[in-house]
Parts: sequence; structure tokens; C-alpha cells
Amino acid sequence: AYRHRPTFSKLVLVFAASGGGLVAYADARAEVAAESPGVAPKKKVVVLGTGWAGTTFVKNIDSSSYDVQVISPRNYFAFTPLLPSVTCGTVEPRSIVEPIRKIITKKGGEIKFWEAECFKIDPENKKVYCRSDIGTNLEGNGEFLVDYDYLVIAVGARANTFNTPGVVEHCHFLKEVEDAQKIRRSVMDCFERATLPDLDEEERKRTLHFVVVGGGPTGVEFAAELHDFVSEDLAKLYPTIQDLVKITVIEHGEHILTMFDKRISKFAEEKFQRDGIELKTGFKVVKVSDKTITMENALHGESSVPYGMAVWSTGIGTRPVILDFMKQIGQGNRRALATDEWLRVRECENVCAIGDCATMSQRKVMEDIMEIFRFADKDNSGTLTVKEIQDVLEDICIRYPQVELYLKNKQMSDIVDLIKASKGDVKKEALELNIEEFKNALANVDSLVKNLPATAQVAAQQGNYLARCFNRMKDSEEKPEGPQRITKMGRHRFLPFSYKHFGQFAPLGGEQTAAQLPGDWISIGHSTQWLWYSIYASKQVSWRTRALVISDWTRRFIFGRDSSRI
Ligand code: FAD
Repeated sequence: AYRHRPTFSKLVLVFAASGGGLVAYADARAEVAAESPGVAPKKKVVVLGTGWAGTTFVKNIDSSSYDVQVISPRNYFAFTPLLPSVTCGTVEPRSIVEPIRKIITKKGGEIKFWEAECFKIDPENKKVYCRSDIGTNLEGNGEFLVDYDYLVIAVGARANTFNTPGVVEHCHFLKEVEDAQKIRRSVMDCFERATLPDLDEEERKRTLHFVVVGGGPTGVEFAAELHDFVSEDLAKLYPTIQDLVKITVIEHGEHILTMFDKRISKFAEEKFQRDGIELKTGFKVVKVSDKTITMENALHGESSVPYGMAVWSTGIGTRPVILDFMKQIGQGNRRALATDEWLRVRECENVCAIGDCATMSQRKVMEDIMEIFRFADKDNSGTLTVKEIQDVLEDICIRYPQVELYLKNKQMSDIVDLIKASKGDVKKEALELNIEEFKNALANVDSLVKNLPATAQVAAQQGNYLARCFNRMKDSEEKPEGPQRITKMGRHRFLPFSYKHFGQFAPLGGEQTAAQLPGDWISIGHSTQWLWYSIYASKQVSWRTRALVISDWTRRFIFGRDSSRI
């Protein structure tokens, strides 16, 4: 059964065998075929989203082999790691965006783009339903249908409010460029409002109380940016109210930046304390009204604080179109679309999902591993040779690079020792005992594997990987033996997606940044801030944005941030 899993190329065959399915598509194919007799029409690849995942896919796909169509409600790519800098004017919004049409044009202009939102996916008929805000059709509703042969879902995620009352109405989010622009205006609103005459001290204090809900990287970076903006720029411009400004970070967990090494989390907490940023850890926000935030704490019970502006940054949730799609394909109880290691949506032909809207689900990891073990006993003798066990482990490591890491890090001693100790063959019964142990030990791996972080790094690597799979699809059909090590077991032609972590940064304000680099190498301070500058400049999507971002940083160094409320 394992060997008969569908591969990309099989999916092509399945589709071909089904005769194309759609009348509209058949018509379109006839048109194309008529235009160029003897030339097979290109497969339609529809990409939803122009974020990190979608744009990287589009940049890397061989558009001469596919009819690529991109659909997204925004016609640009945004460099999200610099969004917190936009909230305070350190960087201008237009410096971190690149029109998607520029990216497409660089690829020879073969790719089509529609500025519209997909509101429904119909996997049965291989169609996506889209709606455009900027134009109308004959029916006046701006809706249209697009057929696909392959669908790449890269719609990202939305802010998660955990259904907390009042959040949507009263809090800012920090997900999109517009959010950052709104925050920038709102900060200036608060400062201008607080200087108006006839306001009592309490009201001024409330207006200048900035609350950040969520002590993750985004919340922390925004709090740090805001602190810098206030202390470096606004304090000079609003000297009479500068002492009334207060920034509070509310975090449900016991610490902020828990996804980082403890040393970074501790450094950040101490720095915030020195900077006068109040940290309320162990507090859960339960309600937000227009002027107060109510929170709960195990020790102190419920309490409310007045605030002037709040930014909600507590993680990500699923977009409605994905929720609806997941219900259709029997994944209704999940948080994100489950894909296999080839990034194909489980139980859904010809649909791939990448980036924040997907999780590379490994719910079958144990079954797969057991199957590899069973398969290794080729002659069904009940005995596995040491060589066979080594092959098994090697194969598991290829399929699950995280297992390899786990074996290296945690020394999966039982099975490894067994192999090392055995001079000859190992009885299968003996091995099975170890398989049980192996299973238990791998319970951890399961959770390790499941939780790829929702980051730009993951999204971009997935986009790149998937584009390479598409580019090699034809090749793999012509040479179906695939990567040698995998074929030994007669399996997939493409190596599974494997994430390479290059480290992560946490800018903490005052020209100090913390970095956790591969090999758990920690670096904190001013020099790391310069590393951050150079890496973020180099990661810009084009020379234009690179130049703009660098000039924004330089402008900020020389003239400070602009406090005009435009
Ligand atoms: P996105 O980049 O969000 O793109 C989604 C795309 O889908 C968008 O173009 C959107 O318009 C489009 N879309 C939405 N709905 C639809 C629809 N219905 N139909 C069609 N298209 C649709 N990660 C890091 O690695 N390092 C960082 O420093 C970092 N900092 C961050 C700072 C902030 C403030 C934020 C918000 C995120 C940060 N991230 C960072 C996380 C990173 O931005 C995300 O993980 C990444 O954007 C995910 O990429 P994506 O392509 O899945 O989604």
C-alpha cells in the first residue's frame, strides 16, 4: 500500500485519465490546441496568495511549462518582518512592498494575476470562486470562477482573537501593511488627543497607555519600536506629556518570547524592565471595551486597566475560506490544512498548501515507520539483518529529517545500541520489543515534526520546494526511478520537504537585537543589531526595496522618525 501512494506524476495521470473534467477547461484546451496543433496544452496552476509562500513559489516556478495564474486580494508582496518598523515610521510602508506584477514581469510576463479574494474552493470540480472588490462583472458582484489542474493554496492566516469579546471592535492587529499604517496614525492620535486642553490628568494618562496583548516576537518587537519612538522622537515634541506615557505588555504565559532560548527571554524581560515597559506575565485578557482591558490572573483574579490604544498580537487563526475547505475535505476539526511531507493536502488530489495556512501533518508518521520496518523484512523470514535495520533507519531519516535530528540529539539509544551490539542478525521478536520503545521515543518526534513554526522562513522554503517539484515533474515522469536512496524502497520520486532553520531574531529596541542562530548560538546586543540590519537588507525581495529600506534606516538615524499624522 505504501508503494502505491499517489505521486505528483500519478496525479497528473489521474487527471489526464479523468478527461480534464470541466467543460470550460475542455473548451479552453480545445482553443489552445487549435492555436498550436500538436502542442499539448499547459497544465493550469492556480496560486492563491502573494505572501511569502505564494510569491516564492511564483518566483521559482518554470512558467514556460505551466499556465500559472495568481489570485490575491493584494497586488504586492509585503516584507512582514519589517511591519513593526512601519508602525512607528522607522521604515515607510512602500519601502517594504513589491508589486507582484513586477515579479511576474521579470519572469517573462507569462504569469497572469488577478486582484481578487478566493472565497470558496471546489475540489470536486477543480474550481476556485473569486471575488474582486475593485471591479464588477455583468451581474455587478465582481465574482468569477477559475479552473485549475493544480491548486497551490498560500493564503496565510488571520489574527487569532480566541473569541475574546471586544477585540475585533477595539484592538489593532499587526498582520498587514494597512494594520501597521493604522497603528502609526493611532499612536499619533493618542499623543495629539492627550495634549488637547480641558483634559484631566487621568484621561491623559489613559490616552497615553499603550497596551500590547501577546508577548511573542511581534508583540515584543512592536513594544520595543514604540518605546524607541517615544523616547527618541516624541518625548522632544511632546515634553509636557512625555512622563504620562506607559507601555504594557500582557502575556498569558509566564515569560515573553518563550519560543526563544531562555537567555533571550530573560534578557528581553530585564531590558523591558529597565526601559520602563511594564510586563504583565501570567495574565489572560478576557474582555476589551473601548476604554478598559479586563484580564484574569490565577493569583490576583480579575482586574481592569484603562488604555488609550491596544495592539492584539496573540498568534494566528484560520481564514474562513480555509475553514470551509477543510470542512469539505474532512479536516473540519483542524487548525490548519494538513499536508503530507510533499506539501499535498491530505485526501485531496492536486491541491498543495504552503505557508501559514498549512501544517505538515505527521499523523501517519508512526504508521509509515512501522510499515518501513515491515517492508524491510523482504523475505518474510521473521529476521532482520543488521544491514536491513540500518537501511530502515536510513530510510526513516530520509523521510523524516526531524527523526534524524532526534536520533542525533537525543541518542535513540535502544534501537541504535541494538544495532551496534548485534554481531549478527536480530530476531524480529527482539526487534519488535525495541520497536515499541522506538514508538514511545518517537512520540516526541511526532510533536516536533507537527509544529513547524508559522514563519516567513518556513513559508518561503515551502514555496521554493514546491516550485522545484513542479519544475521536475516532467523529468520525474521520464525517469520514474527517482532519487536513488528512496527508490531502494520503491517510493516517492521527490524527496520530502525538509525545513532548514537559519535562526531567528528578536529586535528589542535601543539598537539591540537578540539572535538565536543554528546550533543554539545566542547573540545579543548592538553587534547583533548590525547583523539584523545586514540580513534584513539582504533578504529584501528586490534592489528597489533594498535601497528604500536602507535609505529609510539612514534617514531615521539622521533626522529621526516622522511624527506627522498623515
Ligand atoms: P502571508 O505572507 O500572510 O500571505 C498570504 C497571502 O494570501 C497574502 O498575499 C494575502 O493577501 C493572500 N490572501 C489572503 N486571503 C486570500 C484569499 N481568500 N484568496 C487569495 N489570496 C488570499 N516570520 C519570520 O520568519 N521572521 C520574522 O521576523 C517575522 N516577523 C513577522 C512580523 C509580523 C508583524 C508578522 C505579522 C509576521 C512575521 N513573520 C515573521 C511571520 C511571517 O510573516 C509569516 O509566517 C508569513 O507571512 C507566512 O507566509 P504566507 O505566504 O503563508 O502568508
